[in-house]
Amino acid sequence: MSINEKVKVIPCSGMGKVFGLMAREAALRTVGQLCPDKAETMCLAYVVTGDAEAEAGIDGKPCITIDGCPKMCSAKSVAIIGGDIKEEFKVLDIMKEHKGAQPGTATELTTDGWTIVDKIAATLHERVQQIHGEGR
Ligand code: SF4
Repeated sequence: MSINEKVKVIPCSGMGKVFGLMAREAALRTVGQLCPDKAETMCLAYVVTGDAEAEAGIDGKPCITIDGCPKMCSAKSVAIIGGDIKEEFKVLDIMKEHKGAQPGTATELTTDGWTIVDKIAATLHERVQQIHGEGR
């Protein structure tokens, strides 16, 4: 990848599920605040529907996916259009490290939820930095 190319951080759509909301918020925090110069995101709906621009932006490009549950909608959809998936994260797995935490609902996160989102975003950020470094 070129020095100016951004890693794609793509969350699942996760509508109606708190873990999906956490995946989206972590991705947005990563690309919007932590490393906007090295990462960007894309709406999964464009990927799923085979949008030509989305396909061109993902095919053969370094991607990180983050999914709410084992169905892995983002990872599967990105793989289908040829994304070079460097890492697949699953919020459900991350929640196993936070037993007893109450992250909130599908529409609103609690303090616990935001704390875990921050940790996920920090992990995504670290991975983006590594991938970007590998591409030089
Ligand atoms: S991975 Fe799970 S939470 Fe995310 S969109 Fe698919 S079914 Fe919903």
